[in-house]
Amino acid sequence: MLKAWLAVKRISNGPIGFVPTMGALHEGHIALIRQARKESGLVVCSIFVNPTQFNDPKDFQKYPVTIEEDIYQLEIAGTDILFLPTIEALYPNGTKDLERYELGYLENILEGFYRPGHYQGVCQVMSRLLKAVEPELLFMGQKDYQQCMVVNRLIQLMQIATKLVTCPTIREADGLAMSSRNKRLNKEQRGNAVAIYKALNLIKENIGTRKTTEVIDEATQLLKKYNFNPDYVAIADAGTLELINRWHGEKKLVALIAAFQEEVRLIDNLIIN
Ligand code: AMP
Repeated sequence: MLKAWLAVKRISNGPIGFVPTMGALHEGHIALIRQARKESGLVVCSIFVNPTQFNDPKDFQKYPVTIEEDIYQLEIAGTDILFLPTIEALYPNGTKDLERYELGYLENILEGFYRPGHYQGVCQVMSRLLKAVEPELLFMGQKDYQQCMVVNRLIQLMQIATKLVTCPTIREADGLAMSSRNKRLNKEQRGNAVAIYKALNLIKENIGTRKTTEVIDEATQLLKKYNFNPDYVAIADAGTLELINRWHGEKKLVALIAAFQEEVRLIDNLIIN
């Protein structure tokens, strides 16, 4: 139904730009919509809290839902179509015993390691959404760096012509990356949360002159001082996400952090050279 309607619109309006989200929208999401607005003839946004990508059921249950405000923000930003599928519509045969995607090493490092099954779930929902919308352009945030790489891999596996446009991370005034999960932080936790950006910048400033392991240790200590419990603090090749232990200035690097502020898990990354 949506597919048939979009096929007609594609002819009259031009390329379809798609922004998939899980709702609880903030300026980071809206920046994606604005970018899609600039580059596409028709802007489609989806809101769907995808059960198959949550390795922690509590995180799924507590995921913020603010649909009325979301619709208001999407209208102001110039979204043409809001796609709000139900679980049954996207997973007509249920969410168990699903096919597996061959994601290679991306599946088991960093987010993949700490959130087993997460990227299989991301591919499940993204493949279903991409089949429903068939966008020419797909807009996603650099905030989820590894996810962008996984989705590029999925696009290859699906052999579709969709082009992924990776958009810069939008931050709060103090540097904290905007995230729907920030809504779950209390005042003290919100104050502490800036440490992730501080730690990423500490890595950026020191990577050229000091040993990688030392820099990672110092960033980890900084996070702990602000009551973070880190899953990882890593430095990787920005093109392949291969972790690096030594650096001689030849590669473009990305620093990546995932850490818990009590029960709220936050992630962020920064290109560091
Ligand atoms: P989510 O609703 O968290 O699944 O995110 C939907 C899309 O918004 C993903 O492509 C995210 O990478 C992107 N996104 C989330 N936070 C930000 C941010 N602070 N800046 C830019 N994009 C973001």
